[in-house]
Amino acid sequence: MPPLKPSAVADPLDALLSVHGLRRTAAARLVLGWLLAHPDTSYTHAQLQAALQGDCAAALDRVTLYRLIDRLTQVGLLLCRVDINRVRRYQAMPASVHATPHFECQSCHRDSPLEGALQASAHDLERAAQSALQALKALGYQGFSMDFAVRGVCADCATTPPAL
Ligand SMILES: [Zn+2]
Repeated sequence: MPPLKPSAVADPLDALLSVHGLRRTAAARLVLGWLLAHPDTSYTHAQLQAALQGDCAAALDRVTLYRLIDRLTQVGLLLCRVDINRVRRYQAMPASVHATPHFECQSCHRDSPLEGALQASAHDLERAAQSALQALKALGYQGFSMDFAVRGVCADCATTPPAL
């Protein structure tokens, strides 16, 4: 991988990668950039690969992509969740909130962010998350990621008879 040309303007992607001790490769910029640009997506490895291939001329091979996703998750730039089918899904880690509240429908298996629905209590949730993380940090824990999932039946499924 050739070194990237120095740029006059500091690139936020480069800065993020550097701060987290990652190499600023074209592949890393591509994956992180795409996920940050699509903050509401929650994609599996395969979906992410397909999306990246659709968006970019440069194809990323599977192994590189998987390794990259693992690294980005380890350093906390991506949020990894395991859905009820035990499939790993990834999204960009929200900058301000450590946990993105989301709802997993056990009927249609859709996964939707709850920021809108939980607006009234969003502040309380974030405060609770921050204080939990601070307490753990004080005890010496590191490398946090958090998950706040509510499981049940979504409003659409609750009002629509299931398709056969
Ligand atoms: Zn549903």
